[in-house]
Amino acid sequence: MLDAFTAPGRFFRGNLHCHSSRSDGDPTPARVCAFYRDAGYDFISLTDHFMERFGYPVVDTTPFRADGFTTLIGAELHAEGIDNGEIWHVLANGLPLDFAPLMPGETAAQLAQRALDAGAFVSIAHPGWYGLTLDDALAMPPAHAVEAYNSICDWETGRGDGNYLIDQLLNKGRRTGVIATDDAHRYGEEACRGWVMVKAESNSPDAILSALKAGAYYASQGPSIHHIEIDGDHLFVETSAARSMWLVGHAARSTVVMGRGITRARLPLEKFSGGWARLIIADEQGRRAWSNPLFV
Ligand SMILES: [Zn+2]
Ligand SMILES: [Zn+2]
Repeated sequence: MLDAFTAPGRFFRGNLHCHSSRSDGDPTPARVCAFYRDAGYDFISLTDHFMERFGYPVVDTTPFRADGFTTLIGAELHAEGIDNGEIWHVLANGLPLDFAPLMPGETAAQLAQRALDAGAFVSIAHPGWYGLTLDDALAMPPAHAVEAYNSICDWETGRGDGNYLIDQLLNKGRRTGVIATDDAHRYGEEACRGWVMVKAESNSPDAILSALKAGAYYASQGPSIHHIEIDGDHLFVETSAARSMWLVGHAARSTVVMGRGITRARLPLEKFSGGWARLIIADEQGRRAWSNPLFV
């Protein structure tokens, strides 16, 4: 959790999950990149569905890198195997362009491991959207992150939340980061509603990818987390104007500070001792931001 606030550099805003006309999205890759660049993003990862049977590729977005805007090569990976019969959706950011398609007989766990071995930042996408269980997630190699919020799943099905899985994985001792994404396809109302703020020394693809893998980021729908620091037996937090600041931990452990326009708080850490804690804040509009977990 604290890496994002102690690492040198500045925060860069990025979307780790979106689609183009190279799979089932509407705009071309060039237009997707232009859309986010014009919206003020510092980077994106275009993650078209990588499905050889439909001719969907790992898309090369390097031609759309520009001054102040970069891309991570990415894909959404699929393989059989969740318990309720759906195919897996695994997000991989920072793949090599020659990443091989699903191999005959390859399981989702093997595919995810291959993406990890290839150096990617690997996340479990939209678990709430398709009823992914804790057992499904535990059968995978430890991923870097889980989507706490997926905008299009929220917009189209009301199932954009993945916080239940993050908490259950942490309760089982499985460390995971917390991301928010758009998963944009149409680039209408679902776009620019979930992103990550990554702390890095530069906006190069390598620096962003290293910072992601180091956990130096937080996720947001709007609010900013400016600073988090352990101050004795409390967590000191500085944010944009918030209505609620929650610290949640193992099982039902939680603590809260509420008010109007709060920008600083000291949250007691005592009840999280020996376990984990993660910060969630909400602004007046109910938009949230999520830190990565802290191990107390
Ligand atoms: Zn998906
Ligand atoms: Zn997707």
